[in-house]
Amino acid sequence: MTRRVFRYVPFTIEQDQTAEPEYEARCVSGDETECGAESGTHRDPGPVEEWQRRRTQETGHRRYRRNFGGYAVMRPPAELAELARLTGGTA
Ligand SMILES: [Zn+2]
Repeated sequence: MTRRVFRYVPFTIEQDQTAEPEYEARCVSGDETECGAESGTHRDPGPVEEWQRRRTQETGHRRYRRNFGGYAVMRPPAELAELARLTGGTA
């Protein structure tokens, strides 16, 4: 039996500022089969909510599944310390 031992590194999880987040919604109204209409992907929740409002007004459909996609980067403690040194801050 082999056991792999990992050294614990307390990475910090940060939002990736270079990648746009993604918001979208899909209409899941309906009893047997869901409607399936999609809002398309947006970089902001505003247009998605607007799409939902318009759709509900036009069709009476009132149930949606919302998806959010974001990108994360893992930063090791050594890099945080380096950043703090460069910016003169206390991270
Ligand atoms: Zn619908």
